[in-house]
Amino acid sequence: MTTVFEALESNVRGYCRYWPTVFTTARGAWLRDEAGRDYLDFFAGAGALNYGHNNPVLKAALLHYLAEDGVTHALDMSTTAKRDLLETLRDVVLVPRGLDYKVQFPGPTGTNAVEAALKLARKVTGRIPIVHFTNAFHGMTLGALAVTGNAAKRAGAGVPLPHGYPLPYDGCLGGVDDLLWLERAVDDVSSGLDRPAAVIVETVQGEGGVNLARPSWLRRLAEICRARGILLIVDDVQMGCGRTGPFFSFESAGITPDIVTLSKSIGGYGLPMALVLMRPDLDQWAPGEHNGTFRGNNAAFVTARVALRRYWSDDGLATATAAKGERVRRALTELAERFDGLSTRGRGLVHGLVFDDASRAGKVSRAAFEAGLLVETSGARDEVVKLLPPLTVGEDELDHGLGLLAGAVEVVCAG
Ligand code: PMP
Repeated sequence: MTTVFEALESNVRGYCRYWPTVFTTARGAWLRDEAGRDYLDFFAGAGALNYGHNNPVLKAALLHYLAEDGVTHALDMSTTAKRDLLETLRDVVLVPRGLDYKVQFPGPTGTNAVEAALKLARKVTGRIPIVHFTNAFHGMTLGALAVTGNAAKRAGAGVPLPHGYPLPYDGCLGGVDDLLWLERAVDDVSSGLDRPAAVIVETVQGEGGVNLARPSWLRRLAEICRARGILLIVDDVQMGCGRTGPFFSFESAGITPDIVTLSKSIGGYGLPMALVLMRPDLDQWAPGEHNGTFRGNNAAFVTARVALRRYWSDDGLATATAAKGERVRRALTELAERFDGLSTRGRGLVHGLVFDDASRAGKVSRAAFEAGLLVETSGARDEVVKLLPPLTVGEDELDHGLGLLAGAVEVVCAG
């Protein structure tokens, strides 16, 4: 029988095809479907649910706010919810890290934050090119697509995507000093590269296949940019909010980007919200120059604030993430040792199981679903099974999920 999803929902739908069931409720690291079957969720809303589904602390704050008729929609009007969030962001996140940023609320998606960051970089520098990296993913709107690697996604634009300048991401050329060209090209007036406004980079490429940039590579990139007046944008939409351990994914590299984009888990509850953080002197926007009806998702401001207070007032979550990540790394390394054509890489609680035979990753993801585990694939050829459990996942749940994954790998690779 044809479902209403098949009959009515556009062909563009994606995840419902990979996970062909109808979900009803969710709690913590678990999703339940309408047949009453439970699935362990190692996808976590593609990184939007770092604190789990319906996190009880955030839910209580949200329900209270709604019960009191708190403002839910306010564009960028001032509200108590926004004031409380800004103060919390300053006191819990920025000041303790010695970070001096102004805060912009763009429309509530990652791609909107990226658009704002690119626009601002071009406005401030008066330059046009943006350097980006192979396998990068920055979003689906035209500016963000122009700095995204994936050919199929780029083709979807239907118009030329100019003014991006792609360079190899760390490790892409297998040990070659891949930043040398950036350095040379910017300094050489005859290189053909007009001086870029900015470089945009993910410290770990989530959609691109869990590719990790080394801290030393990031530091060198930051130094090249700094010395030449090129702005460094770190897109922390997926890897921020503790995914790699620390709140910002760039902290461990010891770099301070000029602009940072955040979305996904910053709202805390899976509620849409995005932020652009910028060096104060870069805040050269005219009022309303970049706007959007849903800049003021105040319900998300409430859950964002409570999440920051609850999880980032000390280093408990970051420490736990490192320990859980180590558990994942050990389990995946064991798997990679057992089966040919399999390797693993990751940081914090983002890990990839990389298959030489790309088709196996999709098969493993499907077998995992059959066994009750949600894991998606990523990478240029969808060759990587990407693990993104909620950071709040219990150790037992983690072990259970890793066991289900091992079973799925066995089914696919031992057969
Ligand atoms: N940047 C990065 C690094 C992302 O991973 C994503 C989403 N996967 C985006 C930007 C775009 O975010 P959104 O889908 O909310 O527009």
